[in-house]
Amino acid sequence: MLGGTFDPVHLGHLRSAVELREALALDRVHLIPAKAPPLRGEPRVAPEERLALLRLGIGDTPGLVADERELAREGPSFSADTLASLREELGPDGRLVMALGHDAFLRLAEWHQPQRLFALAHLVVVDRPDYEAPLPVALRELIAGRECEDAEELMARPAGGLLRVRLPSRMAISATELRRRLSTGRSVRYLLPEAVERHILAHGLYRQD
Ligand code: ATP
Repeated sequence: MLGGTFDPVHLGHLRSAVELREALALDRVHLIPAKAPPLRGEPRVAPEERLALLRLGIGDTPGLVADERELAREGPSFSADTLASLREELGPDGRLVMALGHDAFLRLAEWHQPQRLFALAHLVVVDRPDYEAPLPVALRELIAGRECEDAEELMARPAGGLLRVRLPSRMAISATELRRRLSTGRSVRYLLPEAVERHILAHGLYRQD
């Protein structure tokens, strides 16, 4: 699972998903847009539109899935609930991984039921340029004893471990910067898939009103 706001999806998300799949030999990576992200303001674009952009971005990429399960749920989009639903599909012995960037990881202790996340899945933290702050105390306590050395050690069990990875193509791309560029009419070429750019421009998304 790679959850997020995807407001909009960009090559940092998509390339990370492809490289994660290779690094951990995952069957699939489910990219799951949050309907109502609990720890941030209202997304700029409606959930259905963010899902449509994600579908366009993924195209026919093998192993990547645009997963709409959070859109059907009422209330805040808690990752613990999403993992529980994936776990139900997978059964108790399947290996389930929740991936997140280092910026999101820094706030993990503030998430809803953070211990439950580890009961349901492994956490894999993807290194991201420009986010190298030290870990808060509550986070260090939460992850104590969970850290694994490598993918092999992590994947020996179905859940409960933590792995920090540095993927080959670290990209300093953020949706915040893309929204900023789009709102002022600047170019976003080569920061997101062409089909996503075309759809955004054709529908006037993220323009300053
Ligand atoms: P925003 O700038 O609006 O906060 P974002 O670019 O961080 O957006 P999100 O949709 O919030 O994108 O991110 C979903 C997940 O993908 C998060 O775990 C985030 O850390 C991770 N992620 C986002 N951009 C990158 C990137 N360039 N490299 C690696 N991981 C990323």
